[in-house]
Amino acid sequence: MDRALVVPGEELGTAEEYEASGYAYSNNYRVLSSAIGIAHFNRSLHVVHVAPLKHHYYPTFNDVVRCIVVSITSRAAIMRCFAVEKGERVAYLKYPVTGIVPSIFSGEHSIDEAVGIGDVVRGRVVSRKGPPFTVSISGFAFGVVSAMCPRCRGHMRRKGNHLHCPRCGISVRRKVSILYI
Ligand SMILES: [Zn+2]
Repeated sequence: MDRALVVPGEELGTAEEYEASGYAYSNNYRVLSSAIGIAHFNRSLHVVHVAPLKHHYYPTFNDVVRCIVVSITSRAAIMRCFAVEKGERVAYLKYPVTGIVPSIFSGEHSIDEAVGIGDVVRGRVVSRKGPPFTVSISGFAFGVVSAMCPRCRGHMRRKGNHLHCPRCGISVRRKVSILYI
């Protein structure tokens, strides 16, 4: 049985493929989810059941998120967003979601100069739909908040708009947040 995190309005299949169960419903020969939840696809019984997430935190427009960079191209960084800030608190997501930082939202740098793979980034959700969410790291409080050395995996220290590895001595340019730990 396959499982997937689904959001309201997400298409789960056609009415020919699945009978809707739980928080799934059918509309116009399509089966959709009415909740943020986990969809269980039972292909042998032709049933899709959506169980809503309880006490979930799920990013929405304008939320501040914490994400780990997983890949970078010249146009965008792809991240796994694992937490949402709720006031003073950081709420961890039960199911990480994909966030994308397009180059235009990277602040002063092009995106491949702004972040590195494995960096922990603080950003703001600027899309009303998702996942994937569009995330901006523009602004002094946004950008890289924690990073490991790409060479020796030591914790990098902030030096202005660079990160410096005290263990092996290398320095890399980043879009560093003032909240860098
Ligand atoms: Zn190092």
